[in-house]
Amino acid sequence: MTVYLVGAGPGDADLMTVRGARLLAAADAIVHDRLVERSVLDLARRDAELVDVGKVPGRFTSQSMINDLLVSLGRRYDTVVRLKGGDPFVFGRGGEEMIALGRAGVVCDVVPGVTSAFAGPLAAGIPVTHRGLSRGVTVVTGHTERHDDGYFRRLANPELSLVVLMGVAARSSIATQLIQGGLSDETPVAVIESAWTTRESVTRSVLRELGSLDVASPAIIVIGPCAALSVRELLAETSALV
Ligand code: SAH
Repeated sequence: MTVYLVGAGPGDADLMTVRGARLLAAADAIVHDRLVERSVLDLARRDAELVDVGKVPGRFTSQSMINDLLVSLGRRYDTVVRLKGGDPFVFGRGGEEMIALGRAGVVCDVVPGVTSAFAGPLAAGIPVTHRGLSRGVTVVTGHTERHDDGYFRRLANPELSLVVLMGVAARSSIATQLIQGGLSDETPVAVIESAWTTRESVTRSVLRELGSLDVASPAIIVIGPCAALSVRELLAETSALV
Protein backbone atom coordinates (compact mmCIF):
# COMPACT_ATOMS: atom_id res chain seq x y z
CA MET A 1 0.00 0.00 0.00
CA THR A 2 3.11 2.18 0.03
CA VAL A 3 5.49 2.79 -2.85
CA TYR A 4 8.99 3.78 -1.75
CA LEU A 5 11.28 5.52 -4.21
CA VAL A 6 14.65 4.25 -3.07
CA GLY A 7 18.11 5.38 -4.15
CA ALA A 8 20.26 2.33 -4.86
CA GLY A 9 23.49 4.32 -4.64
CA PRO A 10 26.18 4.37 -7.30
CA GLY A 11 26.74 0.62 -7.78
CA ASP A 12 28.17 -1.43 -4.92
CA ALA A 13 25.35 -2.73 -2.67
CA ASP A 14 27.31 -1.64 0.43
CA LEU A 15 26.75 1.96 -0.59
CA MET A 16 22.98 1.85 -0.16
CA THR A 17 21.44 3.48 2.86
CA VAL A 18 20.43 1.19 5.72
CA ARG A 19 16.82 2.30 5.31
CA GLY A 20 16.89 1.55 1.59
CA ALA A 21 18.37 -1.92 2.17
CA ARG A 22 15.75 -2.68 4.84
CA LEU A 23 12.90 -1.71 2.52
CA LEU A 24 14.41 -3.72 -0.31
CA ALA A 25 14.59 -6.80 1.92
CA ALA A 26 10.92 -6.33 2.88
CA ALA A 27 9.47 -5.44 -0.54
CA ASP A 28 6.75 -7.54 -2.19
CA ALA A 29 7.56 -5.98 -5.56
CA ILE A 30 10.58 -4.10 -6.92
CA VAL A 31 10.65 -1.96 -10.05
CA HIS A 32 14.21 -1.18 -11.08
CA ASP A 33 16.34 0.48 -13.75
CA ARG A 34 19.16 -0.87 -15.85
CA LEU A 35 21.75 0.97 -13.75
CA VAL A 36 20.93 -1.03 -10.63
CA GLU A 37 23.59 -3.68 -10.00
CA ARG A 38 22.79 -7.36 -9.49
CA SER A 39 24.47 -7.22 -6.04
CA VAL A 40 21.84 -4.68 -4.95
CA LEU A 41 18.94 -6.79 -6.25
CA ASP A 42 20.36 -9.74 -4.31
CA LEU A 43 19.19 -7.94 -1.16
CA ALA A 44 15.58 -8.57 -2.22
CA ARG A 45 13.36 -11.38 -1.00
CA ARG A 46 13.59 -14.51 -3.17
CA ASP A 47 9.83 -14.38 -3.80
CA ALA A 48 9.62 -10.66 -4.55
CA GLU A 49 8.20 -9.68 -7.94
CA LEU A 50 11.05 -8.03 -9.89
CA VAL A 51 10.25 -5.75 -12.81
CA ASP A 52 13.06 -4.36 -14.98
CA VAL A 53 11.98 -1.14 -16.66
CA GLY A 54 15.50 -0.28 -17.82
CA LYS A 55 15.63 1.61 -21.05
CA VAL A 56 17.59 -0.63 -23.41
CA PRO A 57 17.58 -0.15 -27.17
CA GLY A 58 14.70 -2.04 -28.74
CA ARG A 59 12.87 -2.45 -25.47
CA PHE A 60 11.47 0.87 -24.47
CA THR A 61 9.31 1.41 -21.42
CA SER A 62 7.80 4.88 -21.47
CA GLN A 63 7.61 7.00 -18.33
CA SER A 64 3.81 6.88 -18.35
CA MET A 65 3.90 3.07 -18.50
CA ILE A 66 6.24 3.08 -15.49
CA ASN A 67 3.93 5.46 -13.62
CA ASP A 68 0.90 3.24 -14.36
CA LEU A 69 2.81 0.13 -13.29
CA LEU A 70 3.80 1.76 -9.96
CA VAL A 71 0.19 2.78 -9.32
CA SER A 72 -1.15 -0.71 -9.97
CA LEU A 73 1.57 -2.44 -7.91
CA GLY A 74 1.02 0.11 -5.13
CA ARG A 75 -2.65 -0.84 -5.01
CA ARG A 76 -1.94 -4.57 -5.02
CA TYR A 77 0.98 -4.93 -2.58
CA ASP A 78 1.85 -3.82 0.91
CA THR A 79 5.41 -2.66 0.15
CA VAL A 80 6.63 -1.69 -3.30
CA VAL A 81 10.15 -0.40 -3.93
CA ARG A 82 10.91 1.72 -6.95
CA LEU A 83 14.69 1.33 -7.08
CA LYS A 84 16.74 3.92 -8.89
CA GLY A 85 20.48 4.23 -9.47
CA GLY A 86 22.17 6.86 -7.28
CA ASP A 87 19.69 9.27 -5.75
CA PRO A 88 16.05 9.12 -6.90
CA PHE A 89 15.78 12.89 -7.32
CA VAL A 90 18.98 13.45 -9.33
CA PHE A 91 18.08 13.02 -13.01
CA GLY A 92 15.95 10.04 -12.05
CA ARG A 93 12.49 11.38 -12.82
CA GLY A 94 11.65 10.49 -9.22
CA GLY A 95 9.67 13.69 -8.76
CA GLU A 96 7.43 12.85 -11.72
CA GLU A 97 6.77 9.37 -10.36
CA MET A 98 5.84 10.76 -6.94
CA ILE A 99 3.41 13.20 -8.52
CA ALA A 100 1.78 10.40 -10.54
CA LEU A 101 1.45 8.23 -7.42
CA GLY A 102 0.06 11.11 -5.39
CA ARG A 103 -2.51 11.94 -8.08
CA ALA A 104 -3.64 8.31 -8.10
CA GLY A 105 -4.02 8.36 -4.32
CA VAL A 106 -1.21 5.86 -3.69
CA VAL A 107 0.83 6.51 -0.54
CA CYS A 108 4.51 7.03 -1.34
CA ASP A 109 7.76 8.03 0.27
CA VAL A 110 11.33 8.60 -0.85
CA VAL A 111 14.66 7.37 0.49
CA PRO A 112 17.78 9.25 -0.63
CA GLY A 113 20.76 7.55 -2.22
CA VAL A 114 24.43 8.32 -2.75
CA THR A 115 24.48 10.03 -6.12
CA SER A 116 26.99 9.02 -8.78
CA ALA A 117 27.51 12.75 -9.37
CA PHE A 118 29.69 12.82 -6.24
CA ALA A 119 30.51 9.13 -5.66
CA GLY A 120 31.72 8.74 -9.27
CA PRO A 121 34.50 11.33 -8.97
CA LEU A 122 35.31 10.01 -5.49
CA ALA A 123 35.86 6.52 -6.93
CA ALA A 124 38.72 8.06 -8.91
CA GLY A 125 39.99 9.83 -5.80
CA ILE A 126 38.70 13.20 -6.99
CA PRO A 127 37.29 15.64 -4.43
CA VAL A 128 34.78 17.80 -6.32
CA THR A 129 35.56 20.76 -4.08
CA HIS A 130 39.05 21.53 -2.81
CA ARG A 131 40.44 24.65 -1.20
CA GLY A 132 42.28 26.77 -3.71
CA LEU A 133 41.15 24.69 -6.67
CA SER A 134 37.36 24.59 -6.73
CA ARG A 135 34.90 26.76 -4.84
CA GLY A 136 31.95 24.60 -5.71
CA VAL A 137 30.48 22.12 -8.10
CA THR A 138 27.88 22.24 -10.84
CA VAL A 139 26.04 19.03 -11.72
CA VAL A 140 24.35 18.89 -15.12
CA THR A 141 23.09 16.43 -17.70
CA GLY A 142 24.78 16.24 -21.09
CA HIS A 143 21.63 14.74 -22.54
CA THR A 144 19.85 17.90 -23.53
CA GLU A 145 17.23 18.09 -26.21
CA ARG A 146 19.24 20.70 -28.10
CA HIS A 147 23.04 20.62 -27.94
CA ASP A 148 23.53 23.66 -30.10
CA ASP A 149 21.87 26.25 -27.86
CA GLY A 150 25.13 27.26 -26.19
CA TYR A 151 24.09 25.83 -22.82
CA PHE A 152 27.58 24.57 -22.02
CA ARG A 153 29.18 27.80 -23.18
CA ARG A 154 27.36 29.49 -20.31
CA LEU A 155 28.64 26.88 -17.84
CA ALA A 156 32.32 27.69 -18.42
CA ASN A 157 33.67 28.74 -15.02
CA PRO A 158 37.28 27.93 -14.05
CA GLU A 159 36.50 28.31 -10.34
CA LEU A 160 33.98 25.47 -10.25
CA SER A 161 34.11 21.74 -10.93
CA LEU A 162 31.66 20.63 -13.58
CA VAL A 163 30.18 17.14 -13.26
CA VAL A 164 28.30 15.90 -16.32
CA LEU A 165 25.97 12.91 -16.17
CA MET A 166 24.75 11.26 -19.37
CA GLY A 167 27.40 13.25 -21.21
CA VAL A 168 29.31 10.58 -23.17
CA ALA A 169 27.41 10.95 -26.46
CA ALA A 170 27.68 14.76 -26.48
CA ARG A 171 31.24 14.97 -25.06
CA SER A 172 32.73 16.52 -28.15
CA SER A 173 30.17 19.31 -28.35
CA ILE A 174 30.39 19.86 -24.58
CA ALA A 175 34.18 20.36 -24.80
CA THR A 176 33.90 22.70 -27.78
CA GLN A 177 31.29 24.84 -26.08
CA LEU A 178 33.21 25.06 -22.79
CA ILE A 179 36.36 26.18 -24.66
CA GLN A 180 34.30 28.73 -26.61
CA GLY A 181 32.91 29.90 -23.28
CA GLY A 182 36.43 30.63 -22.02
CA LEU A 183 37.73 27.47 -20.32
CA SER A 184 41.33 26.62 -21.15
CA ASP A 185 41.67 23.63 -23.48
CA GLU A 186 44.22 22.34 -20.95
CA THR A 187 41.58 22.09 -18.21
CA PRO A 188 41.87 18.66 -16.56
CA VAL A 189 39.17 16.13 -17.33
CA ALA A 190 38.39 12.72 -15.83
CA VAL A 191 35.86 10.18 -17.07
CA ILE A 192 34.75 7.51 -14.62
CA GLU A 193 32.93 4.61 -16.28
CA SER A 194 30.76 2.22 -14.22
CA ALA A 195 31.98 3.63 -10.92
CA TRP A 196 31.79 1.34 -7.89
CA THR A 197 31.25 -1.77 -9.99
CA THR A 198 33.65 -4.52 -11.09
CA ARG A 199 33.74 -2.82 -14.52
CA GLU A 200 34.97 0.54 -13.16
CA SER A 201 37.49 2.40 -15.27
CA VAL A 202 39.02 5.88 -15.01
CA THR A 203 40.39 7.92 -17.91
CA ARG A 204 42.23 11.20 -17.31
CA SER A 205 42.90 13.80 -19.94
CA VAL A 206 42.39 17.46 -20.80
CA LEU A 207 39.38 19.27 -22.25
CA ARG A 208 40.88 19.49 -25.75
CA GLU A 209 40.97 15.67 -25.91
CA LEU A 210 37.57 14.93 -24.35
CA GLY A 211 35.83 14.44 -27.70
CA SER A 212 38.25 11.76 -28.83
CA LEU A 213 38.45 9.71 -25.62
CA ASP A 214 37.39 6.08 -25.97
CA VAL A 215 34.75 5.96 -23.24
CA ALA A 216 31.28 4.49 -22.93
CA SER A 217 28.14 5.09 -20.91
CA PRO A 218 27.33 4.97 -18.02
CA ALA A 219 30.03 7.44 -17.11
CA ILE A 220 30.62 10.56 -15.07
CA ILE A 221 32.65 13.34 -16.69
CA VAL A 222 34.49 15.70 -14.33
CA ILE A 223 35.88 18.92 -15.77
CA GLY A 224 38.02 21.38 -13.78
CA PRO A 225 41.28 21.59 -11.84
CA CYS A 226 40.08 18.98 -9.32
CA ALA A 227 39.85 16.38 -12.09
CA ALA A 228 43.66 16.16 -12.04
CA LEU A 229 43.68 15.22 -8.36
CA SER A 230 43.73 11.72 -6.98
CA VAL A 231 43.75 10.33 -3.49
CA ARG A 232 47.36 9.30 -4.06
CA GLU A 233 48.38 12.90 -4.69
CA LEU A 234 46.40 14.10 -1.70
CA LEU A 235 48.17 11.56 0.48
CA ALA A 236 51.55 12.59 -0.91
CA GLU A 237 50.73 16.17 0.05
CA THR A 238 49.68 15.03 3.51
CA SER A 239 52.96 13.19 4.08
CA ALA A 240 54.88 16.22 2.86
CA LEU A 241 53.18 18.22 5.60
CA VAL A 242 54.03 15.85 8.47
N1 SAH B 1 19.96 9.15 -10.22
C1 SAH B 1 21.28 8.82 -10.70
C2 SAH B 1 21.55 9.39 -12.07
C3 SAH B 1 20.62 8.88 -13.16
S1 SAH B 1 21.04 9.49 -14.75
C4 SAH B 1 22.32 9.26 -9.68
O1 SAH B 1 22.00 9.99 -8.74
O2 SAH B 1 23.47 8.82 -9.77
C5 SAH B 1 22.07 8.20 -15.37
C6 SAH B 1 23.50 8.66 -15.46
O3 SAH B 1 24.11 8.65 -14.18
C7 SAH B 1 24.40 7.79 -16.31
O4 SAH B 1 24.26 8.05 -17.68
C8 SAH B 1 25.77 8.19 -15.79
O5 SAH B 1 26.15 9.45 -16.30
C9 SAH B 1 25.48 8.37 -14.33
N2 SAH B 1 25.80 7.18 -13.52
C10 SAH B 1 24.98 6.55 -12.67
N3 SAH B 1 25.61 5.53 -12.04
C11 SAH B 1 26.88 5.54 -12.50
C12 SAH B 1 28.03 4.76 -12.22
N4 SAH B 1 28.01 3.75 -11.34
N5 SAH B 1 29.17 5.06 -12.86
C13 SAH B 1 29.23 6.06 -13.75
N6 SAH B 1 28.18 6.84 -14.05
C14 SAH B 1 27.02 6.59 -13.43
